[in-house]
Parts: sequence; structure tokens; C-alpha cells
Amino acid sequence: MEKIELCCLPTPCHRLDRMSSELGCELWIKRDDLTGLVLGGNKGRKLEFLMAEALAMGATCVVTCGSSQSNFVRQLGAACAMLNLHAVAAVMDLPYAVVHGEPPFRPQHSGGNVVLNQMLGVEVHRFADDDWEVLAHHAEDLAQRLEESGERVYRIPIGGSSPVGAYGFVRAAGELTESFDCIVTASSSGSTQAGLMYALHGTPTKVIGIASDPEPEIVDDIFLILSGLEEAHGRKGILPSDIDLRLEWAGPAYGIPSEQGDAAIMRMARTEGILLDPIYSGKAFAGVLSLAESGELAGKKVLFWHTGGTPAFFAYPPTITWD
Ligand SMILES: *Cc1c(COP(=O)(O)O)cnc(C)c1O
Repeated sequence: MEKIELCCLPTPCHRLDRMSSELGCELWIKRDDLTGLVLGGNKGRKLEFLMAEALAMGATCVVTCGSSQSNFVRQLGAACAMLNLHAVAAVMDLPYAVVHGEPPFRPQHSGGNVVLNQMLGVEVHRFADDDWEVLAHHAEDLAQRLEESGERVYRIPIGGSSPVGAYGFVRAAGELTESFDCIVTASSSGSTQAGLMYALHGTPTKVIGIASDPEPEIVDDIFLILSGLEEAHGRKGILPSDIDLRLEWAGPAYGIPSEQGDAAIMRMARTEGILLDPIYSGKAFAGVLSLAESGELAGKKVLFWHTGGTPAFFAYPPTITWD
């Protein structure tokens, strides 16, 4: 697979001593908050392979979609700036799965990635909140209009979650020099979990995804990406039932912080001095805390995969007060 170097890899991986003794397991952290591409995060790994494919097809323009606060759009913006490509994104403040109902409330959308995406020169087209499918259609309309105007367009699905993007996480698993009983990661568009699962299938290491959205169809998205990886890189016979996705810590909706997530952020900040984000990694770490409390992680060697998201702080500071 062709790759363009965008990140500072490998990211650090280290033990969390204080948290380990509090939780009764051996807890390590993989620092993908430190991938180095424009404030870090998991999307840089996917972009190393996606952008290589874009250049190989002679693209002049890259079109994607996401929320207004998308970490993917930010990192795509930086990659496109470096490679002199036109970055275009269809966004909604709060896309959601209509079948699961409207989000209970809408936090204010300003600051954070909204500012950074603009700074990086992304051409952002903002649409009224609606279903994820509708958002993808808006992106496709933009792509077609750009093609009509003579641009050569590379399309990237939400979160960079194509099998090509997921391959970044197949490679990421190769950075591990320790072996773990399980890896816990945030999961939303699915390619982080799918890539790690593909790489580690058949080893003793289990991958647990903590959903950032209370939308069970994430499992179908993960399976589709896994199927694409198997097609491109060899069959492993991974079944839908192999996907361990936990929905309990997703909070009220995608893009809305949860009380448990905010409490987990505060605890990590005050125990280890590490910042998690309110939309993904904070909710995922709330999962780690609960799983440790329930005994599921007792005595195990656990790797928490920090997926980044730091700029979201400046859009949604934790509301919880802790003294
Ligand atoms: C996108 C994102 C995730 C989710 O990763 P997927 O590969 O989309 O499942 C987790 N954490 C952060 C900070 C993200 O930006």
C-alpha cells in the first residue's frame, strides 16, 4: 500500500501507574492524541493512505462530510494544504440517525474545529441537521458539481472510514511492542476498530469498541470495512459476532457530551495529567472505568487507545464541577 507520511509515528505507548492501581488492572495508553498532524488524533493514520490514493488518481480536489466539529475535516484540511489539494466538506452541526430520534438538545457550535477548519482553508458547506445519509448525499452533490467545473475529485466517506483509511490502523497495530489482553478504543465511523480488529484477529488480544453514538448500526459499518480489508489484504474469516461494540457509554446522542464521559475526563486529567475529549475518548474512557468497576478488566493488561479530539474542549468544556 502506498503511503504519504503525514504523522509522527510510532506514537508513544506507556503505562498509567496511578490509574492502574486505582482500577486493579494494568492500564496502558496509546497516544494517538500525539500523531502530530495539526493537533493530533486518529484520522492522521487513515489520511496517510487515503491521500496516497488521491494523489495516485491525480485528484485536484478531495470531498468529504462530517459534523461541523469534525476532527477528520481538520486533519484532512492540513493534509490537503501540504499537498496543495482543494479540500471541500459538507457539514451539519449535529448529524444523527433519524430512526433513533432527534438529539435531545444542541450544544453551541463554534470554536474548536470550526475555527481550525476555516484557518486551514477547507471549503465548508453547512447544511441543516438531518440524517447521516442526507449528509452523504450533500457531499455527493458537491463532488458532482466540482467535477462538472473540471476538478478531479477524490471522495472520502465520513471519518475516512473506507478500507483504505482503515489500513492505517492495520499498520498501527504493528507499532505495539507489548502484548495486551484487550484494547479499548472509541468507535464511531468504525475504521479505527475495524483496522485494529483485522490486524489482531487470531491473536489473544481482544478489541473492544466503545460507541460514541447510541446507534447500533455502527456494527454493520465495521463489518463492511472488515469485508473490504479482507478483500484487499486476505481473508481472515472475521464474523459479525466477532465485533465487540459497547453502546452503554454513548450518552444522549452523537456529538453531545455525557455526564459519565465528562467525569472520566476529569478523572484522567487529575490522575494522569492527560486530556481526553468529550465526544469520543472521554466516553470511551468512561467505558474503561465502568468495565474495571464491574470486574471485567480485573488483573488484565489493558491498552486504552487514545484517539485524540483535543480541540473539542474549546467548543464544549466539561460542565461537571469537581473539587
Ligand atoms: C473520529 C474519531 C473517533 C472515532 O474513530 P472511527 O474510526 O471514526 O470509529 C474517535 N476519537 C476521535 C477523537 C475521533 O476524531
